[in-house]
Amino acid sequence: MDKNIKIWLDGKLYTWKHAKIHVLSHSLHYGTGVFEGIRFYKTSRGPAIFRLDEHLKRLFYSASCLKLKTPYTKKQLETAIKEVIVKNKLSDGYIRPIIFYGAEHLGIHPKGCRVHSAIAAWAWGAYLGTKPVKTLISSFIRIHPKSTFADAKICGHYVNSMLASVQAIEAGCDEAILLDYKGYLAEGPGENIFIVKNGQLYTPSEGNILKGITRASIMEIAKEFNIKCKEKKITVKELLSADEAFYSGTAAQVSAIGMINGKKIGNGKMGEITALLADHYDKIVHGKVKKHLNWLTPVR
Ligand code: PMP
Repeated sequence: MDKNIKIWLDGKLYTWKHAKIHVLSHSLHYGTGVFEGIRFYKTSRGPAIFRLDEHLKRLFYSASCLKLKTPYTKKQLETAIKEVIVKNKLSDGYIRPIIFYGAEHLGIHPKGCRVHSAIAAWAWGAYLGTKPVKTLISSFIRIHPKSTFADAKICGHYVNSMLASVQAIEAGCDEAILLDYKGYLAEGPGENIFIVKNGQLYTPSEGNILKGITRASIMEIAKEFNIKCKEKKITVKELLSADEAFYSGTAAQVSAIGMINGKKIGNGKMGEITALLADHYDKIVHGKVKKHLNWLTPVR
């Protein structure tokens, strides 16, 4: 991580060294913060943020789940995000807004805790590399939807993601795949998953996944190419016998899955439909597709 970046915290910009919170912050102890991961890309009109409005809406939805009331409006956070990109002189990268409880009180109920908001941005290349990803189906299942708001981006949920991710990497893989509590495919630690079978796309239904903004974008792009996409319960057997599989996510973008539990998916290389979607997604985020310019918010 670049330690020269400036970070926005509660309305002011601080150097990396000075962007600090108290050790007794409620959210540090109990995972009671919410965050977003957003990307911005180089376009011919300067840096532009991909689907900013959708990300801010999800941030406010996640915050409402934890009764986190930030004093900033969506518009104010949008302005602050742009300021962080400009002040850090970034042309493309990743934005991390977070809203969390302060250190006024450490009972589980966060009554009396101040709500803090912070935004960082930095240059960040391909999250899962550029080669097809080697994956492991984790023994950790995705958090049960009745234990929490499974469709919110809550800090504490990422203990589940981290455990699965560490397990996959310790097993010599690049990334994990999590099943849901019924044994159906759920998602990756920080990505949604699609499979391709006989020219058709399938992705797990909503209910036990984060409703990815990239996932929604891919579904829309597929429709434009007349590729059918169905949301359904996907079994491990269906996953392992897919012709192609890929992760979708802000950080991962479209990343082909080459192997699952030591078994090649297709020929182990990026499949044809995955390549088509990845290529079009890349064009869209770089502002090269007129129809989807409305998915981009120019920074200046
Ligand atoms: N699932 C999880 C658990 C994630 O953390 C992410 C990343 N935000 C995704 C899916 C993909 O969501 P998005 O496409 O909105 O980045």
